[in-house]
Amino acid sequence: MQIPFHKPYITDDEVGQVLDTVRSGWLTMGPKTFLFEREFSRYTNAPHSVAVSSGTAALHLALRAIGLRPGDEVIVPTMTFTATAEVVCYFDALPVLADIESDTGNIDASGIERLITPRTRAVIPVHYGGQPCDMDAILETARRKSIYVIEDAAHCPPAFYKGRPVGAIGDMTCFSFYATKPLAAGEGGMVTTANEEWAERIRILRLHGISRDAWKRYSTGGSWYYEVEEAGYKYNMTDIQAALGISQLRKLDSMREMRKRIADRYTEAFSGTYALTPLDTRPDRSSSCHLYVLRIDPDAHDIDRAGFIEELGRRGIGTSVHFIPLHRHPFYRNSFGYDAADFPGAERFYERVISLPIYPGMTDEETDYVIESIKDVSSKHRK
Ligand SMILES: *Cc1c(COP(=O)(O)O)cnc(C)c1O
Repeated sequence: MQIPFHKPYITDDEVGQVLDTVRSGWLTMGPKTFLFEREFSRYTNAPHSVAVSSGTAALHLALRAIGLRPGDEVIVPTMTFTATAEVVCYFDALPVLADIESDTGNIDASGIERLITPRTRAVIPVHYGGQPCDMDAILETARRKSIYVIEDAAHCPPAFYKGRPVGAIGDMTCFSFYATKPLAAGEGGMVTTANEEWAERIRILRLHGISRDAWKRYSTGGSWYYEVEEAGYKYNMTDIQAALGISQLRKLDSMREMRKRIADRYTEAFSGTYALTPLDTRPDRSSSCHLYVLRIDPDAHDIDRAGFIEELGRRGIGTSVHFIPLHRHPFYRNSFGYDAADFPGAERFYERVISLPIYPGMTDEETDYVIESIKDVSSKHRK
């Protein structure tokens, strides 16, 4: 059996939406993008949604909106994709890496306060695998210390914290619609916020710093006149991406149900087994189930995690590791002098984790094959 790590879930809905857009003659940012923004706001309860070209662009513009300056500091968990921290470097600001909880992969909220200095402007919690971080604790610390909370929600939606949708919790929330993410538009991103001024600023910055309605200048009745307010970016979404986004958004809940079913099957199968431990889930949160991460006890087998991945690959199963912590990468280590000893939670986590296949359309038979294969590798290599 061949089971890839990920498979996109594209149906006739997506194809129809894209065809409709292509035939409309309006290919780049236009009516579909604005419809996608309105529907995204309705889904997340966020007063403003601004669509951009990627999750990285969303994070970059969020930091522009708060006016990040050279020498400022932004707290970022070490267990994330480089995009979360690289955007801080765009400003010649300092990404201050934070350790994580080794049972969830999320930033350790209790460790944030001691990383805050007079130069700290924001913290970017990452909702690892789609399970929201401890937002009450993070917001309490941030409010008391007067720093912003910009969420990296690349692994959401749909995710909920104490019943509230991710997107309407922190100061700004950044989503990614990259091909493998729960809402996949090939590429794309969104910033949500309740702050109208920030939303307006991001709308201007995403298209060359040109005042908001500039796109209308090409439509009938539009004006030829526009003004550049500042040096912006080419970060707009296209209507082709938005067409994919709209159809994916409309089936977000059913796709999440399909992943949740697989996650529950995995958790039931691995709970109580020798040396294999699912991640912990907090009862006050609902995860998008973007990733299914299993912890493998490295001291209990005669092969390490890399060996496990190789064995599963031989059985036709694609897996991955989320993530190689940022402090281990040469760029962050050499530029900022990070030391693994300062991140015991992330080190413990990184040594153990393996991400298993989980995607809508994966059958029970395929899920069971993954389970049996992992148990088989584990028992064959048991110490
Ligand atoms: C995918 C991802 C991003 C970047 O999103 P892009 O749309 O690829 O730019 C940022 N942060 C995390 C945690 C991600 O997984």
